[in-house]
Amino acid sequence: MSYEHILVAVDLTEECDPVIKRARAFAVASGAKLSLVHIVEPMAMAFGGDVPMDLSQLQQQQFDQAKERLERLILKYPEVTKENSHLTYGQPRQEIHHLAKEQHCDLIVVGSHGRHGLALLLGSTANDVLHGAPCDVLAVKLVKNS
Ligand code: AMP
Repeated sequence: MSYEHILVAVDLTEECDPVIKRARAFAVASGAKLSLVHIVEPMAMAFGGDVPMDLSQLQQQQFDQAKERLERLILKYPEVTKENSHLTYGQPRQEIHHLAKEQHCDLIVVGSHGRHGLALLLGSTANDVLHGAPCDVLAVKLVKNS
C-alpha cells in the first residue's frame, strides 16, 4: 500500500517521537510527503465554554509555546518543512479532518494509549479522529515508560 501525503497529528509531548518515526518510515517507503499538525484547544472549551474571566493572554501564551515546540520538532525532523507544519486553534478531530481534506492527505497518523476504564469511556483523540476520517488512519500504540 502506497501513500502520497501523510499527516501526523502531534500532541507536542515526548510521546510524539514514536508517532513521527513510524509515519516517517511509511513516508520513506511510499515516497510520500510528510506533514505535521498540532491543534491548540481553546481554553474556554476545556472549561465547558462559560468562563467568567479573560483567558486571552493565557491562550496566547499557550499558542506561542506550541509554536516554539513545533519549530523544535521541525528542526529534529528535516523531512518536515515549515510549510508542511500546521498549528491551529480548535477541536482536534474537526481540525485534523479539515486539514487532511484540504491538503489531500491519504493517511492520518496518531498515537494511541489503548486506554482502559474511565478514559476508555471518555474516549481518546485517536478514537475521535478515526470516526468520520476522510482517509486511512494509523494509530501507533504508545507504550508507557514507567
Ligand atoms: P490523547 O488521546 O489525547 O492522549 O492523544 C493521542 C494522540 O492524539 C496523540 O499521540 C496525537 O497523535 C493526537 N493528539 C492529541 N492531542 C492532539 C492535539 N492537540 N493536536 C494534534 N494531535 C493531537
